[in-house]
Amino acid sequence: MKYYDVVIIGAGPAGIFTALELGKRKKGIKVLIIDKGMTITKRICPARTTGKCANCRPCAIVSGWSGAGAFSDGKLTMSAEVGGRILDYMDEERANQLIKYADDVYLSFGADAVLHGVNTARVEEIRYEALKHNIRLIPCAVRHLGTEKAFNVLKAMYDYIVSQNGMEFSPLTTAKEIIVKDGRAAGVVIEKQGCTEAVECEYVVAAPGRDGAGWLAEQAKQHDINIYNNEVDIGVRVEVPNAVMDHLTRDLYEAKLVYYSDTFENKVRTFCMNPGGVVSEEHYDGKLAVVNGHSYSDPALKTDNTNFAVLVSTRFTQPFNQPIEYGKYIAYLANMLTGGGIMVQRLGDLLMGRRTDYSRLKKSATVPTLKSAVPGDLSYVLPQRYLTSIVEALKAFDKIAPGLYARDVLLYGVEVKFYSSKVEVNNSFETSVENLYAIGDGAGITRGLMQASVTGIVVARDIAAKMQ
Ligand SMILES: Cc1cc2nc3c(=O)[nH]c(=O)nc-3n(C[C@H](O)[C@H](O)[C@H](O)COP(=O)(O)OP(=O)(O)OC[C@H]3O[C@@H](n4cnc5c(N)ncnc54)[C@H](O)[C@@H]3O)c2cc1C
Repeated sequence: MKYYDVVIIGAGPAGIFTALELGKRKKGIKVLIIDKGMTITKRICPARTTGKCANCRPCAIVSGWSGAGAFSDGKLTMSAEVGGRILDYMDEERANQLIKYADDVYLSFGADAVLHGVNTARVEEIRYEALKHNIRLIPCAVRHLGTEKAFNVLKAMYDYIVSQNGMEFSPLTTAKEIIVKDGRAAGVVIEKQGCTEAVECEYVVAAPGRDGAGWLAEQAKQHDINIYNNEVDIGVRVEVPNAVMDHLTRDLYEAKLVYYSDTFENKVRTFCMNPGGVVSEEHYDGKLAVVNGHSYSDPALKTDNTNFAVLVSTRFTQPFNQPIEYGKYIAYLANMLTGGGIMVQRLGDLLMGRRTDYSRLKKSATVPTLKSAVPGDLSYVLPQRYLTSIVEALKAFDKIAPGLYARDVLLYGVEVKFYSSKVEVNNSFETSVENLYAIGDGAGITRGLMQASVTGIVVARDIAAKMQ
């Protein structure tokens, strides 16, 4: 049986930063990083050129070296309040130190030196204006890598890690089971090219991302690790001409806005804003199509549109305990009505209670960047509570970004964020099974590149300290 000191499941930012920090703290440590997706240079999404998802298994957008981060917009959010819940595990001072540390690592691998959202006078002006309309602006500095640069930075990390003595990366390798003996992590059963084998190790770091959240929850149940319902965020991706958002995005890059809807007082927030960006389609389990967005840093690749998600957060209470399934179910409805893809509707049509069809979409002043999206009617997809809250939030946001509540605002559905089952861990992200750690988006702890990276650093330091 093969033996490693550490097996890392998932080569997203959480897994990568675990490996980087382990390499720094413990020279020669034997680490196996596995990922069910491809290595970074082989991750090619056909939809990026054809505009049509080819249902690849595993999906090149969310799986493989650098995880869901490879083709992401690469926005590093420098806030302990944004992109996860690390503040549940450490105080703000430590969180900020770790964010700064992780940021320096990104910079050392070639991240763009420009930091957006640090013009405090302008940020304060926007925050003040927003408050007049019951909108909260969460100030947050952002380093934008851009989709193509994020790829380069993560590729540089790959080259560095695999050049380290003792570090191995195994692509197209799926963790099937975490082996626990006498209450302690002992290895991982892996499957590669149809062959199954058990790998022995001292420490297991589970960082399977959102794509692997369901699997991790199953493993947790099997090993009597507590899991809790997390929120599920359901909504749409909004696309408007840059002119509507420019005055906010110019200084902030991303305007993180929070509004409590009028009818239901549900929390509605903007998320993942992409000035000059494109709307994209991503796939879960090789079939479920959900919407997302990103933008390139190369000015030549910028579009005339800005896109961002408007999400409604719900935390379900007992006895319901299947928030992931609930979110997927709603996304399936949109898939069902569009023949398996993403739906797009003009806000004006939604408000008039009619479907957007191809002829109405053609008249839209906002030209859709996701060409494969099928015009339809989101009121057949989203429950009333979600739809009403989204419409009310757009109406409110329109007061600080006039044009957000206009006929030709495009709404793509459905955007779902599965941060569901939160795995119970201590402040070092170790579960009740000794030497088994659960981190990143898959453990329900983070929801962004920066905080996922931070969880990896914490775990690596804990392991290195135990190995002294
Ligand atoms: C299109 C898109 C754009 C985004 N843009 C941004 C952004 O601009 N800024 C930001 O902060 N965040 C962004 N995000 C979110 C960000 O990418 C994630 O928060 C981050 O990647 C989470 O890191 P992670 O390491 O926890 O998981 P992931 O990056 O999801 O990596 C998990 C890895 O585990 C692998 N895996 C899963 N199950 C198994 C298994 N059983 N065996 C082996 N391997 C497995 C997966 O293949 C995957 O590669 C974006 C996400 C997407 C999809």
